[in-house]
Amino acid sequence: MAKNSYEKAIEGLKKLLNEKGELGPVAAAKIDQITAELQTVDSKGFNPVERLKNGFIHFKKEKYETNPSLYGELAKGQSPKFMVFACSDSRVCPSHVLDFQPGEAFVVRNVANMVPQYDQVKYAGVGAAVEYAVLHLKVENIVVIGHSCCGGIKGLMTFPFDVPNSTDFIEDWVKIGLPAKNKVKAEHGSAPFPDQCTTCEKEAVNVSLGNLLTYPFVRDGLMKKTLALKGGYYDFVKGSFELWGLEFGLSPPLSVKDVATILHWKL
Ligand SMILES: [Zn+2]
Repeated sequence: MAKNSYEKAIEGLKKLLNEKGELGPVAAAKIDQITAELQTVDSKGFNPVERLKNGFIHFKKEKYETNPSLYGELAKGQSPKFMVFACSDSRVCPSHVLDFQPGEAFVVRNVANMVPQYDQVKYAGVGAAVEYAVLHLKVENIVVIGHSCCGGIKGLMTFPFDVPNSTDFIEDWVKIGLPAKNKVKAEHGSAPFPDQCTTCEKEAVNVSLGNLLTYPFVRDGLMKKTLALKGGYYDFVKGSFELWGLEFGLSPPLSVKDVATILHWKL
């Protein structure tokens, strides 16, 4: 809530306090609570409200106000070229890593940057984003970006899955990547566990790219060549980024097995 809104709320409460004497103690406590909320500092001296406020002041002064033409255009609409799937991990924001400017990328972030198979009930959130990006924004590329030291992939590689879940959501979500785990276990089962995780971080990207084929509007876009799918991998330990494209065998049955790597660079 903006500070002005807080001030208005406090004014309103003071007015109420004056009008209805019996509400006095309740309203006074509420005022104290709101005031305290604005001044909350944790044990390390961190004030989240100040951090957010200063962050926006910096953005507005340094970015928004220095680029009126960009923000003027964006006020009219958006036509991003990219849809990006990235992990929720706080270290891998794609706008930072790939220098996306506002309006350039339509982004979905979730645990382990997973794209589930088309499912109107279980995965409506992801489905809505893909549908909107492809059919309405007409993005030309969908990029799924994995990353080093991914906690979600480590979970995928660690959870047994043959016993009842120990988490409310995490196991059910990350097991979208089970085909990647199975492939890594079969082909690299004797490698050290951290290396298996690294391989799985990349294989899970390919599973997600394959899952995108289960969305009819994605398949249509690929057939018409208005849409391309790309995999990416950001390693924040080494400071490197890899990109690859996959060409799917688009004659039925569509299968992730029919893929060929058509582009690959690493920086
Ligand atoms: Zn992650």
